[in-house]
Amino acid sequence: MTQTLISYSPLTGEEVGRYLDATAADVEQAVARARAGAANWQALGFSGRKEVLKKWAQLIAARIDEISALISEETGKPQSDAQLEVSLALGHLGWAGKNARRYLRISHRAPGILLANMSAQVQHVPYGVVGVIGPWNYPIFTPMGSIAYALAAGNTVVFKPSEYTPGVGHWLGETFNEVAPSCNAFFVLTGGPATGVALCASDINKLAFTGSTATAKKVAASCASKMTPVVLECGGTDPAIIDHDADLKKAAEFVLWGGMSNAGQTCIGIERVYVHEAIADQFIAEIKAQAQGLQAGLQYGPATMPSQLKVIDSHIKDAAGRGAHFLLGDADSVQPPFVNPTIMLDVPEDSLAVAEETFGPTLTINRVASMGEAVVKANASKYGLGASVWSKRNGRQIARALECGMVSINSVIAFAGVSTLPFGGAKQSGYGRIHGPEGLREFTYPKSVVRPIFDLPIAFTTFKRSAGADRLVRKLAQLLHG
Ligand code: NAD
Repeated sequence: MTQTLISYSPLTGEEVGRYLDATAADVEQAVARARAGAANWQALGFSGRKEVLKKWAQLIAARIDEISALISEETGKPQSDAQLEVSLALGHLGWAGKNARRYLRISHRAPGILLANMSAQVQHVPYGVVGVIGPWNYPIFTPMGSIAYALAAGNTVVFKPSEYTPGVGHWLGETFNEVAPSCNAFFVLTGGPATGVALCASDINKLAFTGSTATAKKVAASCASKMTPVVLECGGTDPAIIDHDADLKKAAEFVLWGGMSNAGQTCIGIERVYVHEAIADQFIAEIKAQAQGLQAGLQYGPATMPSQLKVIDSHIKDAAGRGAHFLLGDADSVQPPFVNPTIMLDVPEDSLAVAEETFGPTLTINRVASMGEAVVKANASKYGLGASVWSKRNGRQIARALECGMVSINSVIAFAGVSTLPFGGAKQSGYGRIHGPEGLREFTYPKSVVRPIFDLPIAFTTFKRSAGADRLVRKLAQLLHG
């Protein structure tokens, strides 16, 4: 019997669409079809795949209004934000298609003196079928960081979008099929967590997961039983660090956006601010002034996932109960389906709002006596996804000391839009990388191949090895390493 997954508007609660709630049998079938398509997809080569991905990007670009409206409907975010998201996703789709050959071509290595007669090379081999599991907060940008790179590298892909944004996932599958109807390279299976569980347990060769750290641990555990390799892009509590010499107006403007845009539902969104005490009052006054006029429902939408409202409320109330002061908003900032912009000062480091991912339009601001203290506090998190550093002179030095995967100096989130840069985290924010050359290589495994190009008078890898060969090995070892 076919099961149905219903997608609702987080803004109105009304039904947006109905999709298949894929069962384990559907997953198995899609993975088998993707496997059958893998040989043809690989045979297309880099230029053939580049053409398909280019056509797909052109189609998405031509229908940007349609997909932006659908993203806006399913997530509740303003359509202009959805459009920005689509254009960033297109950047990655184009880049991956264009650059796969450059970064995945065979590379030659020096064979060393003992095997000087060998040609030694590394081939980058696509895994085969890659499963992609995505979240709802950036339903096209985030999974595209895996889908485009996995396809460009020569894998076929089975994608399970979030149950909150099945329409966007379904749309991606339909548009791919329009440009490449017989490719059998990209399959979309809408469904809830059970569909994700089935995909992890299926016959895929690699899994790319983006979502919460809690789910990532389950995904990794499940994939471990078959030794299926995983790339995990998880949550964070990204800090912004403001030094005494920072451009405070700019810092306030960008940090405010980094914390509140998309209703704070950004994995690399800013959650914690550490500001040098010498300029803290000025920065706090500046961010307060700039936050006037910021309104839930205008610049950002509702919480996409209703259950997150409870988490956000608990973090705000916990901070309030532990002596935090409200610069903006109050203990009742959560007004379903919205969360009013909330900035809290002097929040204990072990409170929920500082230590855990809030995923709402909230910021905590704490004063520090030095940048050393800011770095220690920033690094105290169990997460290590991104960070933002504001300083005219010390930006690079502070960035170096941070334990995380990505840092924007005098900017926020900028690394996500640079297609040449790897994207991913440290610690419990995940492992592996999407985007950039590293993201392409993530979807291949290196295969080392050696071949004699001429015969040496002395052979080493044989039982016929002579006493002369042994003497030569001894001499060379002492010469080279003695
Ligand atoms: P989630 O972990 O609840 O769900 C993510 C996906 O996993 C969904 O498609 C869901 O159906 C599926 N899923 C749930 N249980 C599963 C299981 N046991 N096995 C397999 N799949 C399962 O996350 P979410 O609420 O959709 O997304 C928000 C989270 O994602 C936040 O923590 C955010 O920080 C993170 N995120 C990270 C990045 C990044 O690149 N690091 C990007 C976007 C979002």
